[in-house]
Amino acid sequence: AEQLLISSEKQSIAAQLAAGIAHEIRNPITSIKGFLQLLQRSKSTNHDKYFEIMFSEFDRIELIIRELLVLAKPQVTKFELKDIRTIIEDVMTLLEGQAHLNNIQIITIFELEEAYLNCDENQIKQMCINFIKNAIESMPNGGNLTIELKLYGKNQVLIGIADEGFGIPEQILKLLGQPFYTTKEKGTGLGFMVSKKIVENHYGQLRVSSEVNKGTTIEVLLPIAK
Ligand code: ADP
Ligand code: MG
Repeated sequence: AEQLLISSEKQSIAAQLAAGIAHEIRNPITSIKGFLQLLQRSKSTNHDKYFEIMFSEFDRIELIIRELLVLAKPQVTKFELKDIRTIIEDVMTLLEGQAHLNNIQIITIFELEEAYLNCDENQIKQMCINFIKNAIESMPNGGNLTIELKLYGKNQVLIGIADEGFGIPEQILKLLGQPFYTTKEKGTGLGFMVSKKIVENHYGQLRVSSEVNKGTTIEVLLPIAK
């Protein structure tokens, strides 16, 4: 009975995803088609604007597909010994600019010089990017972003990402990890779900705690390689 439960649950997630993808990708495609028709018919001078919108709609489709590929290819997960501190530092370098532009101060509490995980580096990077981006996006008026790395128990690391942003109301906390759930105008609602999946792929655990108007803390626990 348990087996059955799992497979039917999987199916409903697949169905949910399929419906979401169809919907999310149809919107930009309809919009691109509309602008192409306008271009074909008119000799108006609005061409630059039309092209600009079409490119941004293509960007959106690309982003959705890129995020979904992480889910679509779990079997390609390539596990290697990698230092998690280096991975986090790489991601920070990548997102520093965006943080500074938003008046966000990054505070690091690294209690470990290094810690080797058996992991797919690209996936772990993607996970960190998704969580840190969400933290940055939750503080449009700036604030502190605290990134922590420490030992948890004997054989796990804890990666903490804490923001002082608008927080997540309790009823929305439950919806996290559901595909295409977003409160952002340009959001995809895929980042959290993909990251959760990546944590699972790595036999880790994910904890979220949040208080409205105070901030959100994400904690990822991952096993250290023996
Ligand atoms: P997106 O960022 O594209 O909206 P995500 O899957 O990354 O999609 O996040 C889904 C939703 O979860 C966000 O739209 C937001 O409402 C909420 N959320 C996630 N992380 C945070 C955070 N750190 N602070 C506040 N809200 C968050
Ligand atoms: Mg996001």
